[in-house]
Amino acid sequence: MKPSLAKRDPLRLFPCCVCSQPREVRITKKGKPYIICNPCGVQMFVRVDTGIRLFDALVADADRNDVWKRLAELQQRYQFKCPKCGKTFWLTSELIKTSWANGKLEGYRCPDSDCSGIVRTEKAA
Ligand SMILES: [Zn+2]
Ligand SMILES: [Zn+2]
Repeated sequence: MKPSLAKRDPLRLFPCCVCSQPREVRITKKGKPYIICNPCGVQMFVRVDTGIRLFDALVADADRNDVWKRLAELQQRYQFKCPKCGKTFWLTSELIKTSWANGKLEGYRCPDSDCSGIVRTEKAA
């Protein structure tokens, strides 16, 4: 038997291609990596050797560069949760709602057009 890729590595992470949240890299019985994102219903399998090598390099790279820690820090600063519908969203300039009365920044509008929720900016960054 050749050495299996399925040896117990420390946790390896790869972003879901839909929500870009880090998900655990798992290994199939045949030694091929895959990720599953339950909230998105995404299953991504890497089946060909070339892809697996590229995939491994990406995962190792993200690990080495502390990408996930940095992403988590970014998320705390730029990801908000709508107080009304509970949806989480990233800050983009279109969502900034300023009060026309005094031009002061009021908060960030929920991107869901059916929801009028506004995330108040308590501490402006
Ligand atoms: Zn996802
Ligand atoms: Zn909302």
